Amino acid sequence: MRAKVVIVGGGVMGLSIASWVARRTDPLVEPVLLLERDEPGAGASGRSSAVLRQYYGSRCTAGMARDSLRYYAGFENRTGRSIGFVRTGVLTLALSRAPEDVARLEELVEMQASIGIEVSVVNAAEIRELVHGIEIEDGTFGAWECGAGCVDAERTLEAFTAIARNKGAVIRNGARVEEVLVEGGRVRGVRTAEDVVECEQVVLAAGAWTKGLLARLGLDYPLEVTSTAHLFVCSRDPHLAQGHDDPKFGMHGPEDSGATTWFSRDALHAAMAHPDLEGHDHDLVEGSGTRVSHPVLIDPEVGFYARCEPLHGRARVGRFSYDGDARVDDPEGHEPRVAPEFEAWALDALSRRLPGYADVRVLGAEAGLYTLTPDAQALVGPVPEVAGLFLVSGFSGHGFKLAPSVGEGVAQMLLGEPVSAFEPEFFAPERFRGRAPAAPPLPFGI
Ligand SMILES: Cc1cc2nc3c(=O)[nH]c(=O)nc-3n(C[C@H](O)[C@H](O)[C@H](O)COP(=O)(O)OP(=O)(O)OC[C@H]3O[C@@H](n4cnc5c(N)ncnc54)[C@H](O)[C@@H]3O)c2cc1C
Repeated sequence: MRAKVVIVGGGVMGLSIASWVARRTDPLVEPVLLLERDEPGAGASGRSSAVLRQYYGSRCTAGMARDSLRYYAGFENRTGRSIGFVRTGVLTLALSRAPEDVARLEELVEMQASIGIEVSVVNAAEIRELVHGIEIEDGTFGAWECGAGCVDAERTLEAFTAIARNKGAVIRNGARVEEVLVEGGRVRGVRTAEDVVECEQVVLAAGAWTKGLLARLGLDYPLEVTSTAHLFVCSRDPHLAQGHDDPKFGMHGPEDSGATTWFSRDALHAAMAHPDLEGHDHDLVEGSGTRVSHPVLIDPEVGFYARCEPLHGRARVGRFSYDGDARVDDPEGHEPRVAPEFEAWALDALSRRLPGYADVRVLGAEAGLYTLTPDAQALVGPVPEVAGLFLVSGFSGHGFKLAPSVGEGVAQMLLGEPVSAFEPEFFAPERFRGRAPAAPPLPFGI
């Protein structure tokens, strides 16, 4: 078989790239082939919390998160497919109440607002309005992104798969790439267990498995894999019952129902007035009436984040930072098991900040793989040692929210066009050569 481009890996990156390239190429003349060793979502993407925040320290990633959020927000209206998008708002608390942490937060908010991100600094009183029942000290500050939210990872992967196929990409599941074939310094194709596919371009979007595929070519890029855990809970407190259908809960104000609300009227109206939603009132909280009981909460001080998963009737809690996560030497043998101490830690963290969660029912836990780089930014772009080989890996906890921009930009690279979707130098794989990596920014776990 011959293809124009072979994409290795059916995670959110591979699928996004496939859909962007396929829409620009003729499937009969220049087929795009995606090979997935298992099934789409078998890696990190299928376990992702899929929080879409834009609160980043660099202009480049913040801009990509902004553009990708718009892409996700408009997805259902453009394609008719729901990806479980919910505009819950995302609240990131300052690391501490120390003046330097608050100043840093203000500085980031100013930078983000300057590139069109809707974000503002909120004080303790405003935070209590946004998140009912939250335990914070006076003097606490946070960054509030009223237009941000989450998608459902599984639905999004299904939708990306369908869109890529619809545009003409061929997606083969259960097709493990054994090695990339190189001749005279150029890509010649890939070998799977069954056959050889000839092509001139290969994209390695194999997540945690990318380092192993590079090693077979004698290449070493600084990618490290860790395992990170999550706890799924459902509250017994009816005010906190995630995904509750009763209109008394969720997005309704107290004057409507007398019930507790998690959203102030102002926050609700700000979300409703969002430009992406103009003319699409039903999309306010996606799914015509899907309700959540609180915004995504990112809490660097206590060290956790929590999001509601309305489609599953639960909330998910994870660690804010990946610093303490266990290293994984071989992703092949990784078991998504979670240490019992994690449950106790997560429940304690959650109920310290949100006492309404003190009496939750634990629904389960699982672990997923982060692929990390020394500066916490991904490796995206051509591999200088092999013409036609492109690397797209190392997204740690950021990949889901950046995938639409990455897909667009990598498609531009593959088609030999100037890249407008992001700054290619920022992610260039060769950036670590001959110099010490920059210190990572805030080590967000999502
Ligand atoms: C628990 C968890 C929570 C997260 N939460 C968030 C979040 O809230 N927001 C956010 O933006 N990001 C989040 N992330 C990060 C985000 O999910 C990842 O950065 C992103 O999914 C990485 O996608 P990927 O396509 O690069 O890799 P993967 O999803 O790992 O995909 C790689 C694919 O390659 C396949 N593959 C591997 N080797 C081969 C081979 N030899 N041949 C063929 N196929 C192969 C694998 O089976 C896999 O399907 C989270 C990640 C985890 C683990």
